[in-house]
Amino acid sequence: MRLLCFGLDGADYDLVRELLAQGRLPTLARLSSEGTFGPLRSTIPAFTPTAWSSFLTGLNPAGHGIFAFTSNPNRGGGRLESAASRAGAPLWRYLGAAGIRSAFVTLPFTHPPEPLSGILVTGFGGPRRPEIVPLVARNAILTAHPDLRVSRHPSDLQDFAAAAATLSGHVEEIADVCFLALELEPDLGLLCVDFMSSDIAGHLMWHRLDPAHPAHRASEAGDELVQVYEAVDAACGHLIEQAEWLWDEQPTVFVLSDHGMKPTHWLFRANRWLEEAGYLSFRKDTTARTVTEPAAYAPELEDSLVDEQPPFAEIDFGETRAYCFGYGGQIYLGEVTGAEEDRGLANDLAEALAEVTHPESGEAAFEVRRKEELYQGFYLDRAPELVLLPRDERVHVDSTRQRWSETFQRHERLFAQGTAHFSGQHAVTGILAAAGPGIGRATVPPGSEITQIPATILALHGLAAELDAPEIEAILDAAATSPRRPVEGVSQTPVAASGYSPEEEDLIVRRLRDLGYE
Ligand SMILES: [Zn+2]
Repeated sequence: MRLLCFGLDGADYDLVRELLAQGRLPTLARLSSEGTFGPLRSTIPAFTPTAWSSFLTGLNPAGHGIFAFTSNPNRGGGRLESAASRAGAPLWRYLGAAGIRSAFVTLPFTHPPEPLSGILVTGFGGPRRPEIVPLVARNAILTAHPDLRVSRHPSDLQDFAAAAATLSGHVEEIADVCFLALELEPDLGLLCVDFMSSDIAGHLMWHRLDPAHPAHRASEAGDELVQVYEAVDAACGHLIEQAEWLWDEQPTVFVLSDHGMKPTHWLFRANRWLEEAGYLSFRKDTTARTVTEPAAYAPELEDSLVDEQPPFAEIDFGETRAYCFGYGGQIYLGEVTGAEEDRGLANDLAEALAEVTHPESGEAAFEVRRKEELYQGFYLDRAPELVLLPRDERVHVDSTRQRWSETFQRHERLFAQGTAHFSGQHAVTGILAAAGPGIGRATVPPGSEITQIPATILALHGLAAELDAPEIEAILDAAATSPRRPVEGVSQTPVAASGYSPEEEDLIVRRLRDLGYE
């Protein structure tokens, strides 16, 4: 049994279905017709570090402890999250314990690397230049790709053709790294790769694809986002052919995304709403940070654009009973004020948030989920007390501490910095396609989620482990559902700390912030 698992990072279920109907994703279309295709739910929050951590460990977010790129400073832990601050065993440990070699290429949140039976090329959420183990693989891969990066971000957002070429070029580069990994490790039981370009394209290019987007201009329309999806689809097709040729057998193939993506038509400034409703206070005396740092994107845009954004302010936690932090609608109850333990307050706030109405339809804008129903595990205390899930995912819940005056804002202007330059944001529903030995011709059952993928991969190898989420049994054929051998004695401890200097850590946090991730 040999598996290929391709991550089309941030690929949206609705968009992919549309593109399949148009015949623009031939590899995915073939896999869907030969095997299975359907929606795959992300974690809550639907966020890259959280979702890939669940993909790697089979644990829910309170099990592995990763809710964002950087931890909530009020809830303990270091500032920059990584594989070193994550609990649970990554998939390669289970496979390795069963004698199966594996390669993981640019999967987010795999830094710092650890020795494994196979190859690891670290991905997004660590240093821009990946670290690669073992040394022999590092030397071979960096000799072929001396300028390798975990992702490439277009620097010029005036020229979207060039931006799409940058993102598609990175897809081809990463596909070649995969090919090298296949050559270096002839006995792989799993090659797993994530293409980050489709996520970046979704953030930057959605207003050009969606004519209804408030920031869409007829003179600046384009389907560059789709071109990047097509580049990933083509790369997957080539890698399947290469693997078949090298292995002389048909691999089992997964294509999946860690979350969906939707065009952002409205921004809901959650901290502004909480301030107006009397739950949150900003400190009056200090302006924490004005927007004067150089923009990660469009550095050529003049400062006037930057100046139109309001300044940042610090939250006065001594006077705050609830605040929004991180990505994907996470609402935390105040720690300093003791609100964290106040169930009555959680109920009242949940009710009030459930009554917030959509700016266009006038209907309830959010489904408000409670910590107890979403999470279980060792890191439950790190989890938000409430999570706001927009019923219309064109609404994006923004956790900024910038002093915007409106609670709901139509997303008409794209700024050079922060999340304000993103025209698309994450949605809950990603994709899963699978075909080949062990996969039946079935539909993906509704409610299937990314946390179930490691158990599913182990099941295809005839293995079982104690994970939070079971395998997606319905997509496995009879041969793959026969009795499984338990994998035991796998270390659950985090990998050794990264050894970042405070300066390096600062640099990474600042870059994440420029990209709109903090
Ligand atoms: Zn992602």
